[in-house]
Amino acid sequence: MARDTDPPQSYEQRTADFWDSWPSLWPYVPGRTGVCPHCMTGVQFQEPRTETFTWLGRLVGESSPRRPLRSPPQDLLGIISATCPICYSVIVSMRSSSRSEPWLLWPWAIQRAAPPEDLPAEIVRDYQEAAAVLSVSTRASAALSRRCLQSVLRSAGKVKPSRIYDEIEEAIKSLPPYIAKDLHGLRELGNFGAHPTKSTDTEEIVDVEVGEAEWTLNILDLLFDYYYAKPEISKKHRRAISEKLRAAGRPALPGDEDAE
Ligand SMILES: [Zn+2]
Repeated sequence: MARDTDPPQSYEQRTADFWDSWPSLWPYVPGRTGVCPHCMTGVQFQEPRTETFTWLGRLVGESSPRRPLRSPPQDLLGIISATCPICYSVIVSMRSSSRSEPWLLWPWAIQRAAPPEDLPAEIVRDYQEAAAVLSVSTRASAALSRRCLQSVLRSAGKVKPSRIYDEIEEAIKSLPPYIAKDLHGLRELGNFGAHPTKSTDTEEIVDVEVGEAEWTLNILDLLFDYYYAKPEISKKHRRAISEKLRAAGRPALPGDEDAE
């Protein structure tokens, strides 16, 4: 922790600290492990292998993953690139010492698993847009994913329309413990009860906590799976059994009598 009595840091020291602190803040740095934003595989990111050749084919230079940018004296600005050893795609991130977190320049959006097919269109749209803007605005992303969460709880969870704080309370009662725990945690982290705007109007843009926007998307994935994907799988399994029963001249499973 810097104190007022500490001698001011030299520019060299500040620059060294700036570059050295990237891996503790951000996964998309050579040497760090994380999930590739292109192919969604867990990998250890590597240095980009970009080499510059003259027209005679002689290697004249190899680019560094670190690229310092000209910036105002009080601010440090830099770009780091890394590559994925699985899909070979490049990931480019930028950071300014005046902002707490780096941000992605490329890809524009972090890839997420496709939502189940029979999800209502407006829910898919909110979810995909929330995912698309996550890397540029966590506030915009959280606003969209909170609205998406509310739509899912109302349409699939059948909760009584109310404040999102109370809707979560009601939904938790009928959800499996692993999702209930996450939803409860999200509500506390995001302070849904304390901010009336977060409870009464989910379309309003409000400040979000670190990690809240991405966590909301992860919880939406769990809810999609529980409310939409899993029931569909179980329906397919039941139908397959009923078909076999019918072929053997026996009645289908209860509830599947008139399924073709
Ligand atoms: Zn990849």
